[in-house]
Parts: sequence; structure tokens; C-alpha cells
Amino acid sequence: MISRIKGTLDLLDRGLYNWIEKKIKKHLTDYHFKEIATPIIEPIELFKRSLGLETDVVSKEMYYVSGSTSSDTESEKICLRPEMTASIMRAFLNAGIQETPWKVFSIGPAFRHERPQKGRYRQFNQISMEIIGSESIMQDALFLAMLDHFFSHVLKLQGYGLLINYLGTRQDRAAYQKILHRFLVQESARLCNLCKHRMNTNIMRVFDCKEHQCQEIYSQAPTLIDALAQESVHEWKLLKHTLEELSVSYSIKPTLVRGLDYYNKTVFEFVATDGLGAQNTFCGGGRYDTLACALGAKDDYPSLGAAIGLERLALFIEAQRPLTDHAQEPILSVVIPLTAEQQPLGLQIVQLLHAQGKCADIVLDKASIKGMFKAANKMHAQWAILIGPDEQRDGMITLKNMTTGHEEKIRQGDLLEHIK
Ligand code: ATP
Ligand code: MG
Repeated sequence: MISRIKGTLDLLDRGLYNWIEKKIKKHLTDYHFKEIATPIIEPIELFKRSLGLETDVVSKEMYYVSGSTSSDTESEKICLRPEMTASIMRAFLNAGIQETPWKVFSIGPAFRHERPQKGRYRQFNQISMEIIGSESIMQDALFLAMLDHFFSHVLKLQGYGLLINYLGTRQDRAAYQKILHRFLVQESARLCNLCKHRMNTNIMRVFDCKEHQCQEIYSQAPTLIDALAQESVHEWKLLKHTLEELSVSYSIKPTLVRGLDYYNKTVFEFVATDGLGAQNTFCGGGRYDTLACALGAKDDYPSLGAAIGLERLALFIEAQRPLTDHAQEPILSVVIPLTAEQQPLGLQIVQLLHAQGKCADIVLDKASIKGMFKAANKMHAQWAILIGPDEQRDGMITLKNMTTGHEEKIRQGDLLEHIK
């Protein structure tokens, strides 16, 4: 038997995902975001230039698509997208969109060749939300409030926290990187090999390390926040103050840098405190003011965004199932034609129910009446509509309430009245 590819999922019931998508679409539309879609295949160059060569995603997790013709040149090489922000910025620049801020979102699969585990897959789905072309730090506050409101009020989630950090401007980081380098040189004997490499190539990436010992060292490291220039300090204070005014709770995590190189200023993660295990970040994002230029734009487009990991959010919701109302199934009516003679009439009744916007099905392949009722039960039918030869002859049906067990013979024309 052929098995699915390692690190992928077969969703045998997409109900919860549909529920989340319905809720987020409504929420984002209320906040004046528009849904867009970009291709799943993109030029590899797009992610090399945006995410950065030293990131895990570009250095070891990319899915390359082998070209179908031998005439592929390097610049035409394609990959499966590992995320959507770079694609959305590319689409914005390609289309020459003038109206900013451009507030958009997109839902779809992303691909990373990671080691599969709970909450970490090789094909997963993201809800990517972006505001392109807006410099004001107030936009960051509103965006975080929008996300927090979605998780706390719309999904009614409990047991999560918002972690934020401020990465400052390029100048702030250049000044800080010297301070950090001095610190890491002192600690280098205890660092893992990857961090030793990173401290000389892309130093802030060391904070992304998953090694416990390294993280312990970094908890003692000088922080970027302490090295910010006056203007950045002001903006950072304003952001924190505004979040408080908007009643958004947060914790500051000075080592939060996020896994992709394009971030500056505000970065954040929504993290589950239990229910998700090690993969507990279900939403992450931040500002990416220089991404447009990295992709070749002439002008800067200060921007910000976030991505929700749909699988992780679904796992988190499932861990709190009783608190949410997503499991509500439509009321199902199941028609039971007793013999093959009644099947055509049964189909007509199903059609009538559908025309009235009802959820209806029919039992066709069972020989005994017991088997038919059992099948209706398994389908979670609320109503069973039995038609035998007598009912067919007299224009009647036997209607059974599957919850109470109550049964009555009614006229076919009165069915809709009864199952209202
Ligand atoms: P992590 O540190 O958990 O690997 P990340 O920093 O790589 O996350 P992002 O690139 O910011 O994640 O992606 C945004 C969100 O997408 C994450 O917060 C997570 O919920 C989800 N995500 C990322 N990688 C995966 C994956 N391999 N499988 C499932 N969800 C993922
Ligand atoms: Mg990752």
C-alpha cells in the first residue's frame, strides 16, 4: 500500500479548519483586510534574498522543484514556498500597487523540509496577514490588538501569551552586534558549533538556537533594547504604552528574533502555555521595513505582518474543545426507503429537503430495516424518514426523532413543518 509522504497530514475531517478559516476571514474583513492568493511555486531567489541565506529555512529546509526542461537557468529555478510574506510583497511590487497601506491576507500551504514531529510538518498551512506601506508604530499596536482579540474573543482561547521584542533600526542592530560579539567571544567555549559559526556570519541568529545550553547563555547576554538609539527607545515605549491602553497583555522577551532575516523593529509570537508541547508558537510576525528593497524595489515600503500556523492553532483549539463551539454539526435528516421500490420517492424527498436548505442523506445499500436505522444513527441523524410500501401508497411517511425515539406517521406534505 502506498503511504503518505513523511511529515504530511491527511485531514479526514476538515471541519475545524473550515471553522477557523470562516472566523478569521470575517475578523480580517472587519479590520479592512482583503483576501488574495499567490502561487505555491516561486523563484528560489525570492526567498534567498528575503529570508536570508543563513536562516534554517533557506539553508536546509527548502523544497526545490526540478525544472521540467533542460534550458532552466539559475534565475528560473523554482521552489515550493516556505512562507507567504515574501510572495505577497513580490505580488505587491509586481502589480505596482499605489494605494497604501495595502492590507491583505492569504491562506494556503507552505513547505519546509524539517524533522517531522507534533506541530511540525513538511507541508503545513498558514494564514498570512500583511500591512504593506505603513510606517506608524500605531499600526503595530492595532495589528497586535487585532490578533489578540481574535484569539481571546473570537476563538475564546485561554492559556496563551503574547511575547514581544523590539529589534530597532539597522543602525541600532549594528551597534548592538558589536556588544553581542564581545559577549559571545567570552562564552564561545560553551556554544554549540552552529552558534560559533553564526556569531561570525549572522550573529543575531544565535538567539534562534534550539540548544538548551546556548539559550541559558543568551539569557545573560546584553540586550538589544538596552542598546537602542533615542528615537527607537521612544517608539518602543510608545508601542508598549499603546498596547496597555488597548488592554493587550504581553511579555517582553529580549532574545526573540524570529526565524527569518527580514524583520526589524517590532517582532512577536503568540505562544500556547500548554497543549502544544515543544511546538507552542501558533502565530509569529513583525515589521519588515526593508523587504521591498531587498526584492529590488526602488522605494522603501515599511510593512508588517504575521502568520498563523493553522495546524498548530487547530491542535491548540482541540486541547480546549469544550470552550469552543466549532463542533456544531448541521441537523441531518436521513431518508430510509424500505425496499428498492421506495428509493425513487426517497430521492425526491432528499431533493426537496436540499431545495429548502436542509442537510439530508439517504440509506441505499442496507438490506434490513435494523441495518438502515443503525446506518442513520452512525451518520448522527436527528431525523429518520421511513418510507415503506404503505407510506408510499398513502402519501405518508414515518418520522422518527432519533434523539427521543418518538415516532409518528405524517403526511409527506407536512414533513418540513415537523423538522423545522
Ligand atoms: P518555529 O520556531 O516553530 O519553527 P518559525 O519561526 O519557523 O516557527 P514562521 O516562519 O514565523 O515560524 O511561521 C509562522 C507560523 O507558522 C509559526 O508560528 C508556526 O505556527 C507555523 N509553522 C512554521 N513552521 C511550521 C511547520 N513546519 N509545521 C507546522 N507549522 C509551522
Ligand atoms: Mg521554523
